[in-house]
Amino acid sequence: MSAPETAAAMTESDEAMQPGKDHETGLRERGNLFQIASGVIEKAFESVNLDTDVIEILGQPKNEIIINFPVRMDHGRFEIIKGYRVQHNNLLGPFKGGMRYHPEANLDEMKALAVWMTYKCAMHDIPFGGAKGGLKVDSRKLSPLENQRVTRRFTHALGNNIGPEWDIPAPDVGTNEQTMVWMMDTYMNIVGQAEKNSVRRIVTGKSITSGGSHGRREATGQGIVHCITEWAYDNNFNLDGSTFIVQGFGNVGGYCARILSKLGAIMVGVGDHGGYIYNREGMNPHRLQEHVNNNGTVAEYAGAESISRDEFFGIEADIFVPAALELEIGVKEAKSLQVKLIAEGANGPTYPEAEEILLDKGTQVIPDVLANSGGVVVSYYEWLQNKRGERWDLEEVQQRLERRMRRSYAHVRQFAQQHNMSWRQATYALAGKRLETAYTERGIFP
Ligand code: NAD
Repeated sequence: MSAPETAAAMTESDEAMQPGKDHETGLRERGNLFQIASGVIEKAFESVNLDTDVIEILGQPKNEIIINFPVRMDHGRFEIIKGYRVQHNNLLGPFKGGMRYHPEANLDEMKALAVWMTYKCAMHDIPFGGAKGGLKVDSRKLSPLENQRVTRRFTHALGNNIGPEWDIPAPDVGTNEQTMVWMMDTYMNIVGQAEKNSVRRIVTGKSITSGGSHGRREATGQGIVHCITEWAYDNNFNLDGSTFIVQGFGNVGGYCARILSKLGAIMVGVGDHGGYIYNREGMNPHRLQEHVNNNGTVAEYAGAESISRDEFFGIEADIFVPAALELEIGVKEAKSLQVKLIAEGANGPTYPEAEEILLDKGTQVIPDVLANSGGVVVSYYEWLQNKRGERWDLEEVQQRLERRMRRSYAHVRQFAQQHNMSWRQATYALAGKRLETAYTERGIFP
């Protein structure tokens, strides 16, 4: 295995989105995602008196890797691409987390996303730690060949910084099964011949033919729906005939909408990077998916009227699934929202101040660490299948996912009630307690 090509630079804040810098939507100023996430997590830890040494250890990632590498683009010249891999914690198992390709990708965003992965896995009692990475590129603007070259070169440059028992990437925004298959193939080609097949589990979220798991593609959306179903049961709420809105119609939002509609729920509003649309009578998410496959966005879908982002956040509906990017729900959006439940498909979509407003007005929030964790659960199943040389059928994967989602949902509900805290705080505190126990048992080396 070759060593990383470029020395990994460690900087505290690499082109972080500072307050004052507009996001691509140009809608408002955003803060530093890692600082925002850390503030919420620390409060949750303090409220259950987590050991201060453990809080300090968990307060920073173990490794922050930045790689700059050249790739020849279709126009014939090189471009220097910036890649990240942040490895937050591996106390409970190998680092695990997605790869995001986005023009606004930055170190602090990767740190926050890596931290959330640690707590997602610990909350579920999955033997993985937390990581996140990706590239500062707009994958929509890359040709398929450029995308492949960029992905292969990034994987090669990461070298030993990832590994099937060390750090296991998966898809996230701007990446998909194809990206994972290129990563796997590149990694297989830099290990010895005899090892090739034993490293197939270097990534999860692969296509089924290349060693992926049945049920992985839809797992995150399905996991959100399991949470919504549990919530409906707890609240004596009938999902059949209920209404929902979704922000982001990619892997997570698209599957979530289709699975919810199977239960009789009606999608009345949806938005993505291209615009927002509305139809009081409901939209067919399968037809909308065809439109997105052909046009790259939900905008201009014939079965709905175009609305503004502000109008979208004011739609009266029962459920809202944010499934785009982080920090989309600010104070203004929280005040506008007229829904009973928010099930967070995206990671970190809600500002802490906005959550306070939502909880005060009685809107329930199933937080990201629980709601969108179906993806990492089935990623774990994919990794296990690869490791054991097994192939589980769809039914088996779905049953295991449902069992685990329901069990974790019940744990979080119980923990929140016992400690009189929000569900978000409960996910962190529950996960933090598991990590604290492991640190106490093992001690700090040397
Ligand atoms: P994706 O790339 O498939 O889809 C992203 C969607 O967000 C697209 O519809 C895109 O148009 C929309 N979007 C992008 N910028 C937007 C903007 N400024 N305003 C409105 N919409 C915008 O990504 P995905 O895999 O579906 O991930 C979505 C979210 O879910 C992310 O926060 C990701 O971290 C989280 N998540 C994904 C998984 C997974 O398994 N893929 C698992 C857990 C969490």
